[in-house]
Amino acid sequence: MDISVVISIFNEKESLRELVSGIRENLDAAALTYEIIMVSDGSTDGSWEEIQALAGEQAGGQIHGICFRRNYGKSAALYCGFEAAQGDVVITMDADLQDDPKELPELYRMVKEDGYDLVSGWKKKRYDNKLTKNLPSKIYNATARWVTGTHLHDMNCGLKAYRKEVVKNIEVYGEMHRYIPFLAKEAGFTKIGEKEVTHHKRKFGKSKFGMNRFVNGYLDLMSLWFLQKFGKKPMHLFGVWGTLMFMVGGIIALWIIIRKLVLQSMIARQIAAQGFTDIKLRAVTDQPLFYLALVAIILGVMLFLTGFIAELISRNSTQRNTYKIKDRF
Ligand code: UDP
Ligand code: MG
Repeated sequence: MDISVVISIFNEKESLRELVSGIRENLDAAALTYEIIMVSDGSTDGSWEEIQALAGEQAGGQIHGICFRRNYGKSAALYCGFEAAQGDVVITMDADLQDDPKELPELYRMVKEDGYDLVSGWKKKRYDNKLTKNLPSKIYNATARWVTGTHLHDMNCGLKAYRKEVVKNIEVYGEMHRYIPFLAKEAGFTKIGEKEVTHHKRKFGKSKFGMNRFVNGYLDLMSLWFLQKFGKKPMHLFGVWGTLMFMVGGIIALWIIIRKLVLQSMIARQIAAQGFTDIKLRAVTDQPLFYLALVAIILGVMLFLTGFIAELISRNSTQRNTYKIKDRF
């Protein structure tokens, strides 16, 4: 089979019939064999019944349905769709008719003939609310590009095509569907391309993600960056900073103490020699620097111990020795 189209659906009943006929039209015209995997992510509006009805009307490629008992999120839906996919090329698209099915044959061709591991859609001209989406999205994409080292304009585009191997080797969880190109890159699939795609206004219903997508998106980005850099060797981060803090604090504390002792003995000598009696030295605990040193020492120890604990966790992690093997005899 040439293509598996994977669609995550959360209350998009009105769109489904038009979506499926659009996909069929374009793929049949290109003489491609395909399956459509429709995952209902806990829809409550009758989307599942609609999917069953559509699957009943056998025409062209087969429709498979997966129905979640509750809403788990787009990542979970894609994950299950990916697991089920059989086609050589797997293409994801949103169910809300914002992605245009006429892009499918060309996306397929880019993976199949140009040899891309992943081709991401780029909604150059977007039909979403300008202020709440387009601008934050630009800033967000710029940050994501910088952190993940990929060069996509539109990392979180729902319309993407993958070589089958890619989706079988990545694990989309939580809300990581936003960073699939990065996950793919991490798994060693580096030929990542981009295709400008037509974007449409949402026809029915409304967007399922609110403004918190940006907050969560950023937090996930930080986790990804950390996991990528130090996930398998956390001590390399915590150990370095812990040791550094501890040393800075220790040196300052030592200096304060030694200085105090030296001054004290000098004064004692002067008193003996010249008879001064009322020279007072500042107590160690009167000096702000002393407290800074203490804080640094404590932070250093904490960071170090955090490193040990993180190492223990990472050692027990089931993912510790999962490596992506490309080929073997
Ligand atoms: N979606 C999903 N589960 C969710 C939220 C969204 O499967 O919890 C699906 C939704 O039905 C749509 C796609 O993910 O097919 C993209 O959602 P939406 O159009 O709301 O996102 P936007 O276009 O605003 O980024
Ligand atoms: Mg949408």
